[in-house]
Amino acid sequence: MAMPDTTASDIVGRGAKDGSTMFREWFSSLTDVADSGGHAAYVFVMGSMAEILRVFDFPMVFPEINSLQTAVRRVADDYLNQAEDHGYSPDICGYVKADYAMQLRGGEHPMGKIPKPTLAVLTNACNTYIKWAEIWERMYDVPIFTLDVPSTRAAGTQSWPGDEAFERDRKYVSAQIDELIVLCEELTGKKFDIDRLREVMGNANELIRGWRQVLELNQSTPAVFNALTDGTIYLGAANAFRGSEDGGRYFTELVEEMEFKSENGIGTIQDEKHRLIFVGVPCYPIFRRFNEFFSDWGGVFVNSTYLWFASGGINLGFEYDLDRPMESLAEGVLISVREAVDAMLFQDQALIQLVDKFDIDGVVYHPIKSCRTTSAGQADTRRAFMDATDVPSLFIESDMMDKRVVSEAQLKNRIDAFFEGLNARKLRAQV
Ligand code: SF4
Repeated sequence: MAMPDTTASDIVGRGAKDGSTMFREWFSSLTDVADSGGHAAYVFVMGSMAEILRVFDFPMVFPEINSLQTAVRRVADDYLNQAEDHGYSPDICGYVKADYAMQLRGGEHPMGKIPKPTLAVLTNACNTYIKWAEIWERMYDVPIFTLDVPSTRAAGTQSWPGDEAFERDRKYVSAQIDELIVLCEELTGKKFDIDRLREVMGNANELIRGWRQVLELNQSTPAVFNALTDGTIYLGAANAFRGSEDGGRYFTELVEEMEFKSENGIGTIQDEKHRLIFVGVPCYPIFRRFNEFFSDWGGVFVNSTYLWFASGGINLGFEYDLDRPMESLAEGVLISVREAVDAMLFQDQALIQLVDKFDIDGVVYHPIKSCRTTSAGQADTRRAFMDATDVPSLFIESDMMDKRVVSEAQLKNRIDAFFEGLNARKLRAQV
């Protein structure tokens, strides 16, 4: 809880400011590693295995985050063109192409420089991860560790700790984590330290608890943060600092800020009129402008499936049991990565449950050209959502990296028409 004598100027906006500072420092520490010839573990946001990698003190590089930075800083086309000149197709994942071009440039990117890999760790959460890591294998001849995490077999059939099926899956994941530890020991020459793992998992618990609470606090009216803009800063911190002391502290303080805003009725926009959910990956090439198309009408994103899957499913809030760390880590990986995949592919039921809880006026589906994984099923899940609720939805297409397929005028027309419909609906409800 926020201290009683806390003033708005002390606390409001602190999470965004501190998050940006931590991020800049993190990129600069990676630049130092690169400049001194050091190496890093390359990992992905869905199943980063940060808990294990931190025990061995690997600096971690998140290629998805580096790539999206090129779009936010409006230089992605240089990178995409370079990769396409090398034969990569215009319609594959833009993150892969930006990263490939970054590797050709010796790791140079708008926020600094990334070190070369010493290993790559990936899960099967996205099929692109597997082909992406093969590029590094060809370029650098480094070990690639693929963790196969069983997903949901059919809607509503997820198993949980205590179920026989869950136990089988947990053992399968546990055995793979043991193999990852052996690989890390071989690469670093360090012995695995279970007490250090407990410490890292304790830090991760603090961060995960905070992340879940922050998401829940946006049930407040007015919304205390915008899931599409502020949420993306918090998301970056959740990924980059998971398992570190700084990461845990950051999220405890962020909960404090959000509680303060909620208790004092401080919203993220001045005049909130429509509460929305966003489905998919943001439009990074026109990141701020895209959000303004909504906020200009008083629209605020109170939740987003992006904050679920791109946090590796920690929105579910699974916390580790430090008395049985290895077993609990396997459970956490299984439950959280499965949640991330469900949030990409089968999010309709989760969205239906949010409608009343978050007082939702509309849902915005944003399929994008270069991420088939999160986009392919959106038309179907939208239909299921529309069958179950009378909440209006909008379906708009663009891209997360490639501004050649982002048509601002077309997007604005569709969004304006959506809000005219929402306003008319509210007026009708009042008479
Ligand atoms: S989920 Fe989409 S954006 Fe992420 S790696 Fe897979 S294809 Fe690329």
